[in-house]
Amino acid sequence: MNAPFAATGRLHGMVAEIHARLQAVTEGAVATYIPALAAVPPELFGIAVLTADGAFAEAGDTRARFTIQSVSKPFTYALALDLLGRQAMRQAVGVQPMAEAFNALVLEPGRNRPFNPMVNAGAIAVAGQLCQALGATAFEQVRACLSAAAGRQLDLDEDVYRSEAETGHRNRALAHLLHGAGVFRVPAEEAVDLYFRQCALAVTARDLAVMGATMANIGTNPLTGAEVFGLDAVRDTLSVMFTCGLYDGAGDWICRVGVPAKSGVGGGLVAVVNRLLGIGVFSPRVDAAGNPVRGLRACEALAEDLGLHLFEAGNPGSRLLPLLAR
Ligand code: GLU
Repeated sequence: MNAPFAATGRLHGMVAEIHARLQAVTEGAVATYIPALAAVPPELFGIAVLTADGAFAEAGDTRARFTIQSVSKPFTYALALDLLGRQAMRQAVGVQPMAEAFNALVLEPGRNRPFNPMVNAGAIAVAGQLCQALGATAFEQVRACLSAAAGRQLDLDEDVYRSEAETGHRNRALAHLLHGAGVFRVPAEEAVDLYFRQCALAVTARDLAVMGATMANIGTNPLTGAEVFGLDAVRDTLSVMFTCGLYDGAGDWICRVGVPAKSGVGGGLVAVVNRLLGIGVFSPRVDAAGNPVRGLRACEALAEDLGLHLFEAGNPGSRLLPLLAR
């Protein structure tokens, strides 16, 4: 087991410099669709990076708690892939990018399944599959899985959960659409309740860096050594994160940053550099597409400075490796 959060000086300096440079950016607005999210202080900003071999760097509000929201989607998808296999999951949810908004009431044309697991319909389909497979323990098992990926026990933010459950009519409509299409057999209300709960798990930027590094490290948490996800699940999950992880900004993200990632309306963002590192950013002001503005810019700067883009000349992370020689 690696020492938790052993800092690496030069990487730390780079993260601190990017944080200081972006601190003044105030574009975007805090999500207000529920009061509990509208109350989050907009200035909070934290960047954390954990490498697959356990080196850590951070700057700013990396221990501030926020709700994971849609950043939970890749992790529940990976859990479902591990539990149910690729074939069963592919029947329930596609892997196609979708042009519509993330919460659109639409299924793939000609097929009774959502486009992909990174949009709400897909994530609720995954939740329905998990409820079906795990019964009454579904939420506790989801929580245990995400906690193992983060390396600590994650709590449910009761206020956000209650608020989502009281106001989430569109997500309920999606659950009924999916139930009607035969995507899962459990009651629609059960599936959407699991989805509301998974979205309301409280995390920090540090947690997201560890969760991202767990994906980067082929499913094994680099700090605890826990084997959280299997190789096939990680490969499929990173693939859909790459093409579908950033709402309507996914194409732009691939060109600018070029690594798998997932954002959430709570201001969280996780990015994964295969075999190398996880990045977790928290910044509550989100753009029109729902992506945290400073989170996008921080990842873009890190990708530029470290040569992380998947199609960078040379190997991904080629400029990172000398930095990590301690
Ligand atoms: N709980 C939110 C919803 O389903 C999550 C949205 C998001 O982060 O994209 O509306």
